[in-house]
Amino acid sequence: MNPDLQRRLPALRHSAQERPLGLYLHVPFCLDRCTYCSFATTRDRSLQPETVRQLIAEVGAWGAALERPAVDTLYLGGGTPSLLSPAELESLTDALHAAFDLAPLAEATLEANPGTVDLAWLQGARNLGWDRISLGVQALDDGLLGRLGRIHGAAQALEALALAERAGFRRRSADLMVGIPGQSLSKVVEDARTLAVTGIDHLSVYLLDLDKACPLRGDIDAGRLTLPSEDEVADAFEALQEELPHLGLAPYEISNYARPGAESIHNTRYWERRPYLGLGPSAASQLGAFRWTETGVIPAWTEGRGDVDLQELDAAEALAEIPLLGLRLHRGVNWGDLRERAEALNLRPLVDAWEIRLRTFAKEGLVVWENDQLSLSPRGMLVSNGILEMFV
Ligand code: SF4
Repeated sequence: MNPDLQRRLPALRHSAQERPLGLYLHVPFCLDRCTYCSFATTRDRSLQPETVRQLIAEVGAWGAALERPAVDTLYLGGGTPSLLSPAELESLTDALHAAFDLAPLAEATLEANPGTVDLAWLQGARNLGWDRISLGVQALDDGLLGRLGRIHGAAQALEALALAERAGFRRRSADLMVGIPGQSLSKVVEDARTLAVTGIDHLSVYLLDLDKACPLRGDIDAGRLTLPSEDEVADAFEALQEELPHLGLAPYEISNYARPGAESIHNTRYWERRPYLGLGPSAASQLGAFRWTETGVIPAWTEGRGDVDLQELDAAEALAEIPLLGLRLHRGVNWGDLRERAEALNLRPLVDAWEIRLRTFAKEGLVVWENDQLSLSPRGMLVSNGILEMFV
């Protein structure tokens, strides 16, 4: 364990014993690199067996250090977790059961790439207790998928969703991307409809993010491809906000839609600031006042030479995160509770300053104040960055 974290262990343990944790495991391998990807991932699969062994060792070490805390959500993300062999997935799952108290487990999600799954693998995962699958579909158009460098086509994505259902995954989520060069508004809506018809209970809609260097960014900068305009992207999000509820998928967070009761429990904990522990080369954790991200790249992390970027939030920073994250949720935040908490911390002037700006946004129809509940309006959701930046 990193020495900085070792020194904080009593406080981390105290926080981990207070209430159940979410546990995120990062599997940093992909068959090929998508053209828009800037995640910490590698195609060098020769490192996979040793990395999985290290991940299992970390699970054991953290479970012991935190004295076998209770865990109520599991999330296996990537990279491409569906590249784990059945034996690797079983060893990892066994290690989780040995190191943590999974009695309160309410959800166990794994991410999968449609180009890497077959029925046997999915059935194996389901039999191990993984009960929710999130498939990176992104689009249902082979031309667009090729532009994104995805390893699967549209038919394969739909097939993967069907196989997951056959394997017994009653909870299935798909990712859809908006803002791909050449993607039309009508195609976004058509893809969302097609996905809803498959019976998925959850849909995540992301804006193509090219902030960091990647091949697709290079194509756009060189003029070989053109991004849709901001207005076109806003129109697509607005059309989805309108259409998806008719298909049974109601918005509950800026980027997420679900059937009633099928909201992601694990992801909701991030927006509600409930504690989570992340293990793996670029996983993030938050326990009590501490937040850290693993910064070890492969193979350094695999060789136990990973480092962490550790932050201790002061009372004002922790308070600001409540609206910063909570306003992403459609139900918003209880402003009365926030005010009370600020008063107890002698931070009332901070909340007063936010309220002045929020009243202006309310007049513009971007935020809604109902009794003491504050939320973003549908239009506010479309320009959320400009509103939420006041809390950063
Ligand atoms: S599958 Fe995901 S993590 Fe892997 S390269 Fe593509 S976008 Fe990146």
